[in-house]
Amino acid sequence: MPELPEVETSRRGIEPYLVGQSITQAVVRQSRLRWPVSDEIQHLRNESVLSVQRRAKYLLLELTTGWIIVHLGMSGSVRILPIGEPAQKHDHVDLEISNGKILRYTDPRRFGAWLWCDDLDNSSVLKHLGPEPLSDEFSAEYLFELSRKKRTLVKPWLMDNKVVVGVGNIYASESLFAAKIAPERAVGSLCQDEVAYLVTTIKQVLQRSIEQGGTTLKDFLQSDGKPGYFAQELHVYGRSGEACHTCGETIKSLKMGQRNTFYCPKCQR
Ligand SMILES: [Zn+2]
Repeated sequence: MPELPEVETSRRGIEPYLVGQSITQAVVRQSRLRWPVSDEIQHLRNESVLSVQRRAKYLLLELTTGWIIVHLGMSGSVRILPIGEPAQKHDHVDLEISNGKILRYTDPRRFGAWLWCDDLDNSSVLKHLGPEPLSDEFSAEYLFELSRKKRTLVKPWLMDNKVVVGVGNIYASESLFAAKIAPERAVGSLCQDEVAYLVTTIKQVLQRSIEQGGTTLKDFLQSDGKPGYFAQELHVYGRSGEACHTCGETIKSLKMGQRNTFYCPKCQR
């Protein structure tokens, strides 16, 4: 599943090809995605692109009369290709750009979304989202305040979009390892220093991944459409039964909220 770093890398990759250009038309080959592709997108004609932004794992294309909200779902990706490039089986949407390129959306599992929005502040998909993890709003004070008197387990709590957006399974596991906090701790039991350290590690883990994505940007945009994960060193995620890089203890896994959680029983308390 594309996570926040992949979406941010996609945004940075497509932005220079879109901003200041216009979208001459959209070609929608398959409109049955997670929700149907909005009619307004299917009927787009000659609209200037003012900006390309990101909120949580949504790409936001600001046009003169509204916004296109794109979610990559489980298996979606966007690429920039020359106009006329033959479409393959899972290439569901093209935006034709005035510079002779296309933005092509590929999504084998079709859990992604292409939605039109006139008013971003009242968008039903965006308005309940918590703060961005890399923003100043996501601070030690904010998270500590929110955690008081709560019995929720810290791992699923971090993955709740109302608490903070874009911290998926991999990043929640890795951040908790870096912060030396056991995933099944109740959030109300975390002390102020632990919460502060956790906020720092979440930002570092995501930032490092975005930086690694930046180094593969060209391949990411022009490859065969399989987004994959950036080559990053994982310390616990997917390493059940292997030795901890820090202490040598065996990495364990457990199911929490139907998601596999990986941790070191010795490093994380
Ligand atoms: Zn360890």
